[in-house]
Amino acid sequence: MDFDYTSTEQSFRQEVKDFLAANLPPKSERDKNFLTNWLEKVRAKGWVGFSWPKAFGGSDGGLIEQAILKEEMALAKAPPLGTSMMGLAWVGPGIMEYGTEEQKQRFIPDILDSKVTWCTGYSEPNHGSDLAAIQCKAELVGDNYVVNGQKIWTTGAPWSQWIILLVRTDFDVQSKHDGITCLLVPMDAPGVEVRPIENMAGDKHFAEIFFTDVQVPLENRLGAEGDGWKVTVSALANERSSIGEVTQMYEKLDKLKNLVQNTRKQGKPASEDPGVRRTIARFEMKIAAMKYNGLRFLTKQIKGEPLTSETSINKLHRASLEIEMDDFAVELNGEAGLQLRGGEQAVDQGTWSKSALNWPNVVIGGGTPNIQRNIIAERLLGQPKD
Ligand SMILES: Cc1cc2nc3c(=O)[nH]c(=O)nc-3n(C[C@H](O)[C@H](O)[C@H](O)COP(=O)(O)OP(=O)(O)OC[C@H]3O[C@@H](n4cnc5c(N)ncnc54)[C@H](O)[C@@H]3O)c2cc1C
Repeated sequence: MDFDYTSTEQSFRQEVKDFLAANLPPKSERDKNFLTNWLEKVRAKGWVGFSWPKAFGGSDGGLIEQAILKEEMALAKAPPLGTSMMGLAWVGPGIMEYGTEEQKQRFIPDILDSKVTWCTGYSEPNHGSDLAAIQCKAELVGDNYVVNGQKIWTTGAPWSQWIILLVRTDFDVQSKHDGITCLLVPMDAPGVEVRPIENMAGDKHFAEIFFTDVQVPLENRLGAEGDGWKVTVSALANERSSIGEVTQMYEKLDKLKNLVQNTRKQGKPASEDPGVRRTIARFEMKIAAMKYNGLRFLTKQIKGEPLTSETSINKLHRASLEIEMDDFAVELNGEAGLQLRGGEQAVDQGTWSKSALNWPNVVIGGGTPNIQRNIIAERLLGQPKD
């Protein structure tokens, strides 16, 4: 692995830094037009869908440049490069790979221009980890699929305009991975009912969605009927070297280091306590492990080898590390550490306790730790299935 950046890569990093210095004011100075202007500017730079082919409005950007872009954006705590995280991460790439010409023309520009937000309708009340067991059904009647069933935990559903939806079109199948179809459904279609769910941190980011006789035109099917599993698996494999996430973890560690310097333990700054110091050092080593794993994945991608099961390593690692860091910060401050924003003694405006309450976001969202362990054991370590 070569850790040195070429001069072209270094000048790209400088270009991103200069752009950020010129266009990212401190949060307190951002007015109501800031986000719209920001989105227009990053779009004009060609940084939205940076690695997408030029033919689809992307920049054909290289993987290292993309990692640099993500790293610098995360370091500067910049807003996202588009309003539809899922649109950019897998709906767009899925449409580019499996969509019809008409679908490409219709959906891709709006994702890049932040005109629409997408959500992902995979999980159902009884089928989360075992995704292929989905029961939400669609029946082709004339030129429309008629969808009936329920989805749950759909992040962004309360404000999204479109959903990428997995439905079962055939119940009489040998393997549960067959008979699944992927549909692109407008959230304002008659018969779609969104009921937001409040999580324990008080946020309403996700929802359950009920589909009652929802008519979805045949032209909104992504890929062939029965190919939904293939479409989903390949779409989800996009952009997963986790380099941007590592930068966020380093940011979090810096915040934690600040916290221990400013917290008193037995009459002294907690940062002088040997136990606290050991814990901080352990976190730092774990983040470094995540970083070098991320670089290994990036190297693999650069060699043209697709990423598959190995991304489960960082997903699992990050989940437990985030919880450890949040819990440590909360415990360090005793009762005050538990207070949320607005609490009289809230620490760092309650961000640690809020993050501790939001642990399911990183732990369960996108697949539980047990599922990641199964993937690592079976597919990477070659352990038997039972
Ligand atoms: C914050 C958040 C956001 C989410 N966003 C979305 C979204 O946008 N779209 C979407 O479709 N879904 C979303 N989900 C749903 C998420 O993908 C599922 O919750 C997750 O896959 C787990 O499924 P489940 O809830 O049905 O739990 P289950 O699958 O019932 O799992 C329950 C427990 O059993 C364990 N388990 C299950 N199967 C096995 C096995 N084979 N081996 C060992 N242990 C097993 C699990 O690890 C877990 O501990 C979100 C969830 C959260 C928490």
